[in-house]
Amino acid sequence: MAGRPIRIVIVGGGSAGWMTAAALRSKLSPAAAEIHLVESAEIGTVGVGEATVPHIRFFNSALGVDEAEFMRRTKATFKLGIEFRNWAQIGDSYIHPFGAFGADVSGTPFLQQWVRSGGPARGSLEAYSLPVAAARKGRFAHPASDPRRIESTYSYAYQFDAGLYGRFLRDLAEERGVVRTEGTIVAVDSDPESGIRSITLKDGQEVAGDLFVDCSGFRALLIGQAMGSTFESWRRWLPCDRAVAVPCRSAGPEIDPYTRATAQSAGWIWRIPLQHRVGNGHVYASEFVGDEEAERLLLDQLEGEALAAPNRLRFEAGRRDRQWVANCVAIGLSAGFLEPLESTSIHLIQLAITNLLELLPDDLRDASAAAEFNRIMDVEYERIRDFLILHYCATERDDSPFWDYCRTMELPPSLDEKIALFRDRGLVASYRNGMFLEPSWIAVFAGQRIFPHHSSAAAAGVPATVAGKALDAMRNEVERAAVALPRHGDYLRQIGAA
Ligand code: FAD
Repeated sequence: MAGRPIRIVIVGGGSAGWMTAAALRSKLSPAAAEIHLVESAEIGTVGVGEATVPHIRFFNSALGVDEAEFMRRTKATFKLGIEFRNWAQIGDSYIHPFGAFGADVSGTPFLQQWVRSGGPARGSLEAYSLPVAAARKGRFAHPASDPRRIESTYSYAYQFDAGLYGRFLRDLAEERGVVRTEGTIVAVDSDPESGIRSITLKDGQEVAGDLFVDCSGFRALLIGQAMGSTFESWRRWLPCDRAVAVPCRSAGPEIDPYTRATAQSAGWIWRIPLQHRVGNGHVYASEFVGDEEAERLLLDQLEGEALAAPNRLRFEAGRRDRQWVANCVAIGLSAGFLEPLESTSIHLIQLAITNLLELLPDDLRDASAAAEFNRIMDVEYERIRDFLILHYCATERDDSPFWDYCRTMELPPSLDEKIALFRDRGLVASYRNGMFLEPSWIAVFAGQRIFPHHSSAAAAGVPATVAGKALDAMRNEVERAAVALPRHGDYLRQIGAA
């Protein structure tokens, strides 16, 4: 491609399309790449996707986004984690926080000492987590940078209006030089070996490119329909395949700094508090509950007046077997979808963009970049898949055919191994990068009532009285720090984010 900038054509203007456009335009110089985006008002976007994980902060800051302005424009709130209600047993509640539980005791891991001192019989793990305590009290402040302070032991993400986020990124991308074309694509000129040459819009306009990024959503217009990458379904492990979403008015002035996921008889209901409204949706398995019943359950549980008619969506958990084929890279729902339980989609979009930027070859015919991209995305999709399945399979619920199915389904061997390792000695199969690291797995194992049978031999080296005192001190410290934090709504106003 030497001698002229490569021409990158992004198909789709949902969150995936505009995140990709904004990032590529910010990271590639105009001499290296021209960036075009095609979107169709007629088709529109999926219109959901309000909760995120902490990685999005790094995405925004890499674009040079001012946090308070971004939060005002997208009506965003802070998110310290997700509360899961009724998952292992009806009546249960636990929070998967963005942060650690406890601290090492005399050089041994906190979890091992907690197990040794009685585990759940000693009291919930939650008492050792500042983000959980803060979330339950409706409090938030930015984490401290001094690693000696307990206020440095958590991270945070956002809950925002996905439509407004798309608009925010579109303004940013266009200001920086992305060229937008409005129109519906009706034909793709492609060859499975050499890739895509051009796309044709309804009005006859032809858009040619060197690299095509498929952000066309569930349609997978380029990667699936044109390039033939097949969809691998994971429905047997993640049976939810439909959702109905309804925003409602906030019930009061307080804003929870967390998302809620309440298990139902055949799925779960999300509740995502934003500044101006609350997002709600019921994710369910159509094999076990009908659309009308699912909608009724959602409307019955709204905590405020509905602000729009219910929006019904269909999906299937799984991913494309190849997300980069020849000169076509899939990002967003076109690449795969793992259901919204842990708000992972925007993170996967971000990961794909980062990898595309890192791997983009000088010569687009070089197949090694595609192979590496596909390998990295496969690993992350499978790890997230296992993490999501854990929420469903580690249940004691036997009150509906859906939970009977989830409790008894055959698991991927990779997850079976992770559960066995934790159940035996409280160990988490570790990796350094990726989305859900050790604290997340501990939160969900314990929240789903999987507790280790033994602590490690090293833990026994610390006298029980020393460990007991250290654990008590940690609980007190968490409580003291949580009540000292400001109320979430007050903090949003104080920093100019609301
Ligand atoms: P879309 O938003 O569908 O955009 C597709 C784009 O392609 C549109 O602009 C469309 O016009 C364009 N297009 C399609 N066909 C053509 C054509 N022929 N010609 C021209 N343009 C075309 N993610 C999270 O991170 N957090 C969440 O809380 C969350 N909740 C979710 C809840 C549900 C029920 C679902 C289904 C998803 C959720 N997601 C969530 C996922 C999230 O919505 C998506 O990852 C995100 O919106 C990105 O979507 P997208 O841009 O890939 O696709």
